[in-house]
Amino acid sequence: MTATVPPKAPTFLGLPTAPRGVGHLRGDQSFPDAARGALRDGQLRANLGHATSTIRGKRARVVAELPDWAQLREAGRALKAATMARLDDHLEELERQVTARGGVVHWARDANEANEIVTRLVLATGASEVVKVKSMATQEIGLNEALEAAGLDVFETDLAELIVQLGDDQPSHILVPAIHKNRAEIREIFARTIPGVDPGLTDDPRKLAMAARTHLRERFLRARVAVSGANFAVAETGTLTVVESEGNGRMCLTLPETLITVMGIEKVVPTWRDLEVFLQLLPRSSTGERMNPYTSTWAGVTPGDGPQEFHLVLLDNGRTAVLADEVGREALHCIRCSACLNVCPVYERAGGHSYGSVYPGPIGAILSPQLTGVEDNASLPYASSLCGACYDVCPVAIDIPSILVHLRAEHVEAQQRPTAEGVAFKALARAMSNPRLWHLAQRAGKLGRLLSRGRPTLPNALPPPVSAWTRSRDLPTPPRETFVEQWTREHRGGRS
Ligand code: SF4
Repeated sequence: MTATVPPKAPTFLGLPTAPRGVGHLRGDQSFPDAARGALRDGQLRANLGHATSTIRGKRARVVAELPDWAQLREAGRALKAATMARLDDHLEELERQVTARGGVVHWARDANEANEIVTRLVLATGASEVVKVKSMATQEIGLNEALEAAGLDVFETDLAELIVQLGDDQPSHILVPAIHKNRAEIREIFARTIPGVDPGLTDDPRKLAMAARTHLRERFLRARVAVSGANFAVAETGTLTVVESEGNGRMCLTLPETLITVMGIEKVVPTWRDLEVFLQLLPRSSTGERMNPYTSTWAGVTPGDGPQEFHLVLLDNGRTAVLADEVGREALHCIRCSACLNVCPVYERAGGHSYGSVYPGPIGAILSPQLTGVEDNASLPYASSLCGACYDVCPVAIDIPSILVHLRAEHVEAQQRPTAEGVAFKALARAMSNPRLWHLAQRAGKLGRLLSRGRPTLPNALPPPVSAWTRSRDLPTPPRETFVEQWTREHRGGRS
């Protein structure tokens, strides 16, 4: 096999958003169009409903055990806000500490630059394949595609990521990327794609896990290069942290000769004491466990023990643009626990693929449009009922509903041409500021009663432009009598 280094891609100056044409932050369809298809898939809805309600219940039980959960949550929020206020200082300290311990730090402005750096590093080792620990950042930048384009084989080792990779699919959940698949579907994928798998493989979870383990073990043992993400990086000691449940991550982090970690710049925490807070918040909010089974930490390289070459790629890809927005920057506080996905009524019905981005659910609806620029993900801030359940469960108290409204306003203000909604609200404002016009509008509105034929709402199939509203929302039938008419009648009747 001939491996080729791809040409260095151009990058941008200033506060660029994530570039187009690379990575997985933009979908091919708007959210409503993608969700329409997903809503017709009864199996998908059943799989999602079952999985999210199970995780929701577990989370609620373990969070209720802690009498000081609210204080812990506030500590997480405050630590994140303080870290973001001095992000540049913390990142420079992290670089100094990683370098002092034998690691090499690379700064990647965007997905193209990060992919180019990692590809170059892997090719320099002479390896032809790479094992990967589950990593949202590498999914975000499309690293697998970049490595494969350079002639390298890439093996995902997280069980759910493996299912997604073998099924030629896309992740649909932050924590459980294959949440949209049930056991029978996973058995079918394994039977079809894993060479030499037991032909009598059943959908027993233990049997499925054993099949994946046999498949992966050989790859772990021969891998010379691993690529990981990171949940946190402690600036004061240059320590990277990966939190996981299966132990596959630890195999990747310890067995290969070279380890390359790709991390979003917002994952840095200043001190070990800060990490203590997040290591309590994360497992309870994500898997509903008091403590996750594997927490791996490492700093630089240790002669004779573990990888002898360590590279840390610090990824921006739109994050400094998010940081520049005083309201939206809270999205960078996210610790990727996925609790907001599991409580979201929209996510539970539409599924992760409808969001078109590697970050689905409520956090995706505020993070993806900011990373790409709101016009490239304009439908996502509207993919919410603003019920506030996401805010209630978020372990770092990100005010997702307020950021959604903020992004909606940004999208509306960016419109060059007047929208039907804008025209309608302007007309409404005019009518409401003139009593005579308002009275006339109310009388005209009563004509709608003719269309309703006694039903509480108007028919969905009204002509444009009203159809833009009624296609997805109920329009109540106008009352027989307005408030003013009722008041006047009762007043005249001497009852006031
Ligand atoms: S926004 Fe909050 S609840 Fe959602 S994934 Fe991030 S940390 Fe978890």
